[in-house]
Amino acid sequence: MCGIVGYVGKRNAQDVLLDGLEKLEYRGYDSAGVAFVRQGGLRVVRAKGKLAALEEKLAQEPVSTATCAMGHTRWATHGVPNDANAHPHYSESENIALIHNGIIENFIALKEELLQKGYTFRSETDTEVVAQLLDYYYSDCGDFFEAMNRLLHAVDGAYALGIICADYPDRLVAARKDAPLLLGFGDGENFIASDVTALIRHTRDIAYMDDGELAILS
Ligand code: GLU
Repeated sequence: MCGIVGYVGKRNAQDVLLDGLEKLEYRGYDSAGVAFVRQGGLRVVRAKGKLAALEEKLAQEPVSTATCAMGHTRWATHGVPNDANAHPHYSESENIALIHNGIIENFIALKEELLQKGYTFRSETDTEVVAQLLDYYYSDCGDFFEAMNRLLHAVDGAYALGIICADYPDRLVAARKDAPLLLGFGDGENFIASDVTALIRHTRDIAYMDDGELAILS
């Protein structure tokens, strides 16, 4: 299980994420990535290797105005370390981006169901299945938060999840079960992280999520 950091507020989210991910480097990782809400959709940037590789990609196309975003450092459990398996993972519609620490035990069965429904996959990870399943439930019921509830009932395993959706550009969604995840509260800004070291510079007002909890930060 590796690192998660997410931000929603008024500041340039890219700086907050890269600083937070640096603080989580000590845990070890094989790739890193970020997802931003931008006008008209989401943008995901990922790179195998050290954070410097991600920073290099971001420098080519900076996202200076994004204020809702999340970042991840991956320690591969399902699929080799490469750009395609790095998080965040897009859903099919690219309307949802998702990061995950942990392991989804029933991902093969869920993936088969989604393949039958016509979904295609761009990675070998268990995590992409979660992003696609949320996309499926959301398109089925039209209510994102109902879709989240259905998702959390369907997946078995350990997870700390961070999610952004283009339809809710100022919301950061978090859920946990058997993997650490905490919320940080600032002045006009809020955070999620898998480890307090990523947030300590920004806030001391922190709540540790319990298993089975879902949080929506705005
Ligand atoms: N199981 C996921 C993967 O292999 C998440 C690994 C992690 O916790 O970093 O992509």
